[in-house]
Amino acid sequence: MNTDKKNIVIQAEDVCKYFPVKGGIGQPGGIVKAVDGVSIELYAGETYGLVGESGCGKSTLGRTLIRLLEPTGGRILLNGTDISSIPKEEMRQMRQKVQMVFQDPYTSLNPRKRVGDILVEALTIHKIGTKAERIDIAMKTLEKVGLLPEHFYRYPHELSGGQRQRIGLARALILNPQIIICDEPVSALDVSIQAQIINLLQSLQKEGNLSYLFIAHDMSVVKYISDRIGVMYLGHLVEEAETDELFDHTLHPYSEALLSAVPDTNPHVKKERIMLDGDLPSPMNPPEGCPFHTRCPKATPECSKRKPKVQEIRPGHKVACLLFE
Ligand code: SF4
Repeated sequence: MNTDKKNIVIQAEDVCKYFPVKGGIGQPGGIVKAVDGVSIELYAGETYGLVGESGCGKSTLGRTLIRLLEPTGGRILLNGTDISSIPKEEMRQMRQKVQMVFQDPYTSLNPRKRVGDILVEALTIHKIGTKAERIDIAMKTLEKVGLLPEHFYRYPHELSGGQRQRIGLARALILNPQIIICDEPVSALDVSIQAQIINLLQSLQKEGNLSYLFIAHDMSVVKYISDRIGVMYLGHLVEEAETDELFDHTLHPYSEALLSAVPDTNPHVKKERIMLDGDLPSPMNPPEGCPFHTRCPKATPECSKRKPKVQEIRPGHKVACLLFE
């Protein structure tokens, strides 16, 4: 893929997203630290895979980057401009450049509107083209995502899951964005349809020099599509590297466990799966020290006292683990 490492399109600097939680009767409330000080950069033309267990904060980070959720702290830079606190109207204009594709295309498409109206609406909101031009752009976008002109007149319930996800993609593409945040875009689809959507994403990327933040829990899919991968655990980025580097020289014990679940391409190579004890701790009550220490097979007494910092250990390979400090 044509990654341009000199050109950062979106950047999260120490981004936090906390949610206040009301307490029960006689019980104090609290704060869920869904994302706690994450810094990542997305380059022009690259696919950055963001992985981690459900509840690790990856989707919250994606939504915070596009300000569907307001950040609690840190900065978000879009093409170098700080968009963390710009007014809503300005953000609406900016959102033309950053679009989102959701996991469940059915619930993210208005069931009462025809596909054509859904697509044209995006152009109307952004005051793009005349009525006739909008219809023309919508028809061309349908073609781009492998659909037919007749789909313009269909309702979402008349389409298959794969076709609905193509509409989700078309709705994102129609505004000609630079960046698409794909939040588990294939996990609700059958395996054969997943492959079609992944291939479509890749060919659209080549055509339009798009950058993807690809959020998923399926490591095989992420390995296939991503140029770089970031691993999140309990609201923190714990490791980041180029895809091959991450798989060949895994550093963080949590990434080791996550990656051990990916079958080797050589069927004669037997991989031992690392099973982690216990569940993900509550982000309302995260452990002191390293957030992973309650489940880490390599934890030392120091790990429960001190929080590791994200450090670059090899070129482009960052990790947050005291074993490497
Ligand atoms: Fe495991 Fe300690 Fe490293 Fe955390 S800092 S990942 S607990 S070894």
